[in-house]
Amino acid sequence: MATLLASSTAVGAGAAALQALTRFESLAYILAALLFILALAGLSRQQTAQRGNWMGIVGMALALVSTIAVTVAGDGAAVRSLVLIIVAVAVGASIGVWKALKIHMTAMPELVAMLHSFVGASAVLVGFTSFLTTPGDPASASNAYHLGEVGLAIFIGAVTLTGSVVAYLKLSGKISGKPLTIPGRNAINLAAVVVCVALIAWTVNTVGVGAGMVPLCLLTVVSLALGAHLVLAIGGGDMPVVVSMLNSYSGWAAAMAGFTLGNDLLIITGALVGSSGAYLSYIMCKGMNRSFGSVILGGFGSSAGKAQPGSGQGPSQQVGEHTETTPEQVAQLLGDARRVVITPGYGMAVAQAQYPVAELTRKLSAMGVDVRFGIHPVAGRMPGHMNVLLAEAKVPYDDVYEMDEINDDFGDVDVVLVIGANDTVNPAALTEPDSPIAGMPVLRVWEAHKVIVLKRSMGHAGYSGVQNPLFFNDNTDMLLGDAKASVEAIVAALPDAPGGER
Ligand code: NDP
Repeated sequence: MATLLASSTAVGAGAAALQALTRFESLAYILAALLFILALAGLSRQQTAQRGNWMGIVGMALALVSTIAVTVAGDGAAVRSLVLIIVAVAVGASIGVWKALKIHMTAMPELVAMLHSFVGASAVLVGFTSFLTTPGDPASASNAYHLGEVGLAIFIGAVTLTGSVVAYLKLSGKISGKPLTIPGRNAINLAAVVVCVALIAWTVNTVGVGAGMVPLCLLTVVSLALGAHLVLAIGGGDMPVVVSMLNSYSGWAAAMAGFTLGNDLLIITGALVGSSGAYLSYIMCKGMNRSFGSVILGGFGSSAGKAQPGSGQGPSQQVGEHTETTPEQVAQLLGDARRVVITPGYGMAVAQAQYPVAELTRKLSAMGVDVRFGIHPVAGRMPGHMNVLLAEAKVPYDDVYEMDEINDDFGDVDVVLVIGANDTVNPAALTEPDSPIAGMPVLRVWEAHKVIVLKRSMGHAGYSGVQNPLFFNDNTDMLLGDAKASVEAIVAALPDAPGGER
């Protein structure tokens, strides 16, 4: 009797502890969701970005700890579950930390694309696991709802998975960046979506693992092919929009996984990522003058596409004679100028020239020259790439202007320094309707009195692979060489500021 009493007391205490943990989980989820929203708000401005980042980290830590605690406590084999989770986290975290330390800033977009593919893969796996644990059961009132969730998670997850893998391969140059333009590709995409909807409807009406597995496997294959085709069809300089669009897809995939797992926080987090990614894609589409619908359907940036996007090796036929200059001449020009605008691009990231560029800015400002930065929305290889580099080098935020804020001012500028930018300052986008970058708004640097372009050679084009007529204008001089070495040489050739600024 005493043993029975003791064991029932222990069971009661265990249940009470679990109940307390579940309450802690709800509270932690609300706090984490709040922190994620504050993180997004913080990340929207450079001044608050670091704080936003920390809020995201704390929110995620809170979410992880509470989820693991409740899962482990509610499990019959708590120790085994805990050990498995710790091993999985240790393996994943070690690979993640190793990759993050190893990756160059310029390869960040391809890493992000790869990470999106993991979210897609997880959604597919969660979908199948959820189906195998609870297959179609007509006795259950929520049967159709559950199977619909499973189907949607697999559909969105599989599209995200292959779309992101193809984006990774294109961005890393492992496959050609040229758009794959199969005739009737929009009809093919639409037909694939219709087939997927039909397969989800079929899944919803199945009973048992055997019957449901057939439409789910077919759904996986069609969705995987659709994801790959959507991204294969995109070329030109339009990959940035694809990366942010896949970011959005990965959010929706996570939200669907949240539905199948019954995890509210995953639904909230997924929806935040999905909607903010969609909004970012919309802003980038506007910035590049592309239609949002055509991005979602795939196959844009492919109108002319004779060049090899991503290769930087496009047609380099000269469209005139170029004039070369020296760091000393550029230093003289800058010293005599009143207004200078610097438009950085991918080459500044490759050369890691942001530090000498910041030094140049400080020195010119000390000499009384007004120096500003003009940032194109897709300069570099990821959204905000240039802003991150300039912030890293401690360039004051107030000197950094968006393209729309500065584009009308170039007529009043004495010297523009184009540091490793090419597509984003290419006048062909406005003047050549057949160009792969036709219609993309660009920084109108050629309106300035003098333009100095820093790049390594005349033989290589920008990301979209098209030649840049800017380099052959009468008011453009080329300073050929690695951007870091060139800017350092300019800084060295400038006279010392009266206050000893050097
Ligand atoms: P581009 O890729 O058009 O041009 C880069 C320029 O930098 C080239 O002229 C290259 O010439 C030069 N360069 C490279 N390395 C160095 C170096 N070490 N020193 C000096 N110059 C160097 O850059 P932009 O920033 O103007 O345009 C970005 C392009 O990337 C757009 O087409 C955009 O659509 C695309 N893109 C953007 C993404 C984003 O999210 N921002 C993502 C994916 C693509 P050279 O080799 O002769 O030195």
